[in-house]
Amino acid sequence: MRIRPAGRTAKAKSASGKNRRRSARRNRSDRSPYTARPSLQKVNIDIIAAFLRRFPLKFSTARLTLLEIADKVLEKKVQMPRPAKLKAHMVFEMLTRSGGRARAGVTGACSEWRGAFKGGYPVVTTVNSQRGHRLNVDARKYILENPARGRRRNFRTIPQNLCGNVKCVNPRHIRMVPINPDSHQGENHPRSKFTDKDVVRMVKEYNAGSTAREIAKKYDIQLTYVEQIMRKEKRTEATEGLKIRGRFGFR
Ligand SMILES: [Zn+2]
Repeated sequence: MRIRPAGRTAKAKSASGKNRRRSARRNRSDRSPYTARPSLQKVNIDIIAAFLRRFPLKFSTARLTLLEIADKVLEKKVQMPRPAKLKAHMVFEMLTRSGGRARAGVTGACSEWRGAFKGGYPVVTTVNSQRGHRLNVDARKYILENPARGRRRNFRTIPQNLCGNVKCVNPRHIRMVPINPDSHQGENHPRSKFTDKDVVRMVKEYNAGSTAREIAKKYDIQLTYVEQIMRKEKRTEATEGLKIRGRFGFR
């Protein structure tokens, strides 16, 4: 660690005699440089922001997650751990630049992505929390699913820019549109037996108290398939935004 918060060594020196026990306890949780100097968090966040503004492509968002990029910059510049205050959406914002001309149909300026692009689309890397798989995600979808404020969401739809600026990742300029209707998914699958409307009707009956078994019998389908629909594992484009009764409340 090259940079040390001032005052820390002085504090350690004065730890003697009756204060020793207390300072020993303090030192255990004191390993983070931010405990001694909380204001250092902001200093280091600013360092990351300044670095990414100058070298947005130094660490590719197609290979590293946003927080991994922050770690890399900190390692390179100050050899310190990541401040707790730094959130992924802040790194996301550091990788954008307000710009582009004013465009019809949208409010505010575009936020142009300066990170990696893949196939013409802005990408970020995420890690699946259960399996640890690394995954490239459309940055526009990512920011709508992981907003700076509010709840995490999960879209089964694809992002489209209202402003027509392909670099833009401003959440207010993006809307999620249904999966390409020409794709053979969900109700468009050639062997699909039920339309999305049918699926919604099943969900409503289920919410009203019908059991999965009753619905399976009524519609002549596998019990498992009904259960999967109700757990939002199948036909999710039909049930997006719909509340479904579950063992642990509505999902
Ligand atoms: Zn835009």
